[in-house]
Order: sequence, then structure tokens, then C-alpha cells
Amino acid sequence: MFEVTDDMSAYTKAALFNGTGKQTPMFLRLSSVAGKRGTPDSVRDPRGFSVKFYTEEGNYDIVGNNTPVFFINDPIKFPNFIQSQKRDPATNLTDPNQIFDFWSHSPEALHQITILFSDRGTPYSYRHINGYGSHTFKWVNASGEVHFVKYHFKTDQGIKNMTNDENAEMAKTNPDHHTKDLYDSIENGDHPSWTLYVQLMPEKDEAAYKYDSFDTTKVWSHKDYPLIKVGKMTLNRNPENYHAEVEQSAFSPSNFVPGIEPSNDKMLQGRLFSYPGAQRHRLGGNYQQIPINCPYRAKVVNEYRDGIVTTGNQGKQENYEPNSHGGPTQDSSVAWAKEETNGQCGRYAIQNDHFEQPRGLWNNVFSDTDRDHLIKNLAGPLSAVTNKDIQEKMLALFYKIDPSYGTRLSEAIGVPLKQ
Ligand code: NDP
Repeated sequence: MFEVTDDMSAYTKAALFNGTGKQTPMFLRLSSVAGKRGTPDSVRDPRGFSVKFYTEEGNYDIVGNNTPVFFINDPIKFPNFIQSQKRDPATNLTDPNQIFDFWSHSPEALHQITILFSDRGTPYSYRHINGYGSHTFKWVNASGEVHFVKYHFKTDQGIKNMTNDENAEMAKTNPDHHTKDLYDSIENGDHPSWTLYVQLMPEKDEAAYKYDSFDTTKVWSHKDYPLIKVGKMTLNRNPENYHAEVEQSAFSPSNFVPGIEPSNDKMLQGRLFSYPGAQRHRLGGNYQQIPINCPYRAKVVNEYRDGIVTTGNQGKQENYEPNSHGGPTQDSSVAWAKEETNGQCGRYAIQNDHFEQPRGLWNNVFSDTDRDHLIKNLAGPLSAVTNKDIQEKMLALFYKIDPSYGTRLSEAIGVPLKQ
């Protein structure tokens, strides 16, 4: 259940965030990313953090991770990135060479790599992670005023991580720990919760911000855009059937409600299409009619019909628009906000400094212990790379974040920095 603690109607007309005390049923799917089914829960990996709100205006999905940034900022690289992290097509083994090869050509990934190889990459449980919306979205209020928004779900259980050694031990002795921990805590009435905060950027500020605000590899500094409290999400019920609910749940960042819209974040624009495409492939064209995905609190009126395993099929409702029989008509009140554009359109890489934010993390946020663990956690897989050229390229990138970061890693893996 999600409950608004601080009314957001000044910023968005989305009913879900309007009115203190407003409650909306929701479903949260927590997952690992790179491993296949049966991989121990604890291994180093980002964690998927996907929320579906069943609002009276339709379903709204936030499909994010436990990290505020992602490895890449251009969706054209998404399949390539995923393939580089998965198994080699010939050996069917995960290969540190291909993992680091991709990263050595993708400096925008350094921020997320630094977080992933810190102890945040091996959380103690699903209850002890934060969730982030990954992208920049638009919130639009009843007067049409636009703010760009980033979501932060902060765990009320507190962040709790494991060292590499603790994680390795848990993978051996208790591979289903995270699943069991979450299930048991909900079942025992110790309901985990997260406080939702947002960062809000007035639309007019966007063009002048020091970073391209639509870059998924960057955060907005809390000092520039402080966290604003919105509400609390509490997990008070387990699924009754894992396959029906968890396996068949289908999220998409394109599931919006009035008052929430996409921004020109390139990764988001790609995901708006790729997620529904994957769900149609995985579950069939009518996957939104499966109970866990069904926007059951809203009346669905559209022109989609037929296909395999449809239920109801919207009865005798007309399946075309416009029509002469009083059927559904277009509703301009839910049209997306207009936006000013000027200049040239074209394909270009996001122009941001990819080293400054991981430098801030390394120098100003991490403790000495965090830095020690990061070096140790990275040294293992980087030592396993057999291609020296890739190791040298990676060391040069870490050095560019901060000389001490690159030098310490170079010493840890016994490969000299190439001057
Ligand atoms: P702040 O000092 O205001 O924020 C730092 C934030 O870093 C904290 O609020 C916390 O956010 C997060 N954090 C704390 N310890 C760790 C850790 N060991 N590993 C990863 N994240 C940690 O500074 P800025 O907002 O200017 O950000 C500085 C750097 O902090 C950024 O470059 C980014 O790398 C990192 N960061 C920033 C976030 C943001 O949205 N601004 C969010 C997370 C990290 P939280 O409670 O969300 O974990």
C-alpha cells in the first residue's frame, strides 16, 4: 500500500499523489538482473526495483533499480550492454574480458560501476536497499505547469550491505536468503516500508543545469534539488502464487497516468517501446488483462481487441473511433504538456563530464572503509581479465576519476598504469 504523507497537487495532478492520507494499492517486484533463475540472491548485481500503482486513473509503473544511475544513457547500447554482461555465445560462460571490454569503451558507465562494486552491490537483503526511478520524468499540475522529477524510495529499514566475503559465504550457505528474508518479514507482520521522496526541477531550469538532466548516468545533486517527501510505501501482503503474480507481472515505464509524462531522456524513450514489446513476446498480446497487470480500478476503454487469451474483450463496446454510436471519444484533458523546442534535431551523444560525479562519490561520499572495499571488490574481477589492453584502458579511466582510485587499483591487480 502507498500512502501520501505530503500532498503533491502543487506539482502533479496525478490522483495517486494528491491529498494527504490518500492510499493506493501497489505491487513491488524486487529482482536481480544479470543472473539466471536459481543464481544465489546475494551475488554482486544491481537489483531491479519495480513498482506498479493501481490507481483509479489506470496503472502507473516506476521501473527502476537500487542505484540512482545506470551504466549507459543511450538505448541503442542497451542490448549490447546486456549481452556483454551475460554469457559468451561460444563458451556459455560469463567472461570478465567481455564485461570490462564494453565498459572500457563506455566511460559513462564509471559512475554505476563505482556504485556496483562498492558494498551497495551486495545488499544484505531486499529490505535494505533504496529504490530509484532511474529516469527523469515530467510532473504536470492542474494548471499545466511542468516540473521535471526524479524518484527516490529510501528504505526505512536502513541501508545494510555485505562485504565480498560475507556475500560469498551467503551464496554458498543460504542462496535464497533475500527471497526468504522478504517473504518471512511480511508474513511475520514485520512489514518493510520505504519513504518516497522526489527531486523537482522547474521546467525553465532544465536547459541551464550544469548536466544534461536527461542523462541516466548522472544524478541531480541533493544540494541543487533537495529531496521532498511524498509518502510511504508499505509491503503488507505476500503474493499468493509466485508464478501468477511475480513471474507474470509486467512493468513498463510507458504506463503513465494523467499528470505524469515522459521527458526527453533518451534511455526512457527507448524503454517506452522495448518493455511492452518484451512483455508481448513473453506473456502474449493481452498480458495487461492478467490479474496482476490489470488496471482493475479504472474502466479500460480503448480500441484494442482480440488476440490470444483475451478475457472480456470489452464486450460490445465499439472498436473504432470516431463513431456515431456514442462510443468513447478522444479526451483532450489528458493531452501531454506542450513544450518549446528550438535548434537542430539529430543523433548525438550526451555531452556530460563522465568523471566528475564518480569523483565526488570516491572523494566526498565514501568512507575510508568504503574505498578499501571498492578496491578489493573491483580487483578480483579486473584481475580475471586476461586481455592486458582492456585492463590498462580500465585503469586509465579509474585514474581519470581520481589518481588515487586508479593507482590503488593498479597496485591491487599488479598491472602498471600506462602513462
Ligand atoms: P550529497 O552528499 O548530498 O549526497 C550523497 C548521497 O550519496 C547520499 O545522500 C546518499 O544517498 C548517497 N550515499 C551515501 N553513501 C553512499 C555509498 N556508500 N554509496 C553510494 N551512495 C551513497 O551529494 P550529492 O547529491 O551532490 O551527490 C554526490 C554523489 O553522491 C553523487 O555524485 C552520487 O555519486 C552519489 N549519490 C547521489 C545521489 C543523488 O541523488 N544526488 C543519490 C545516491 C548517490 P541515498 O540515500 O540516496 O543513497
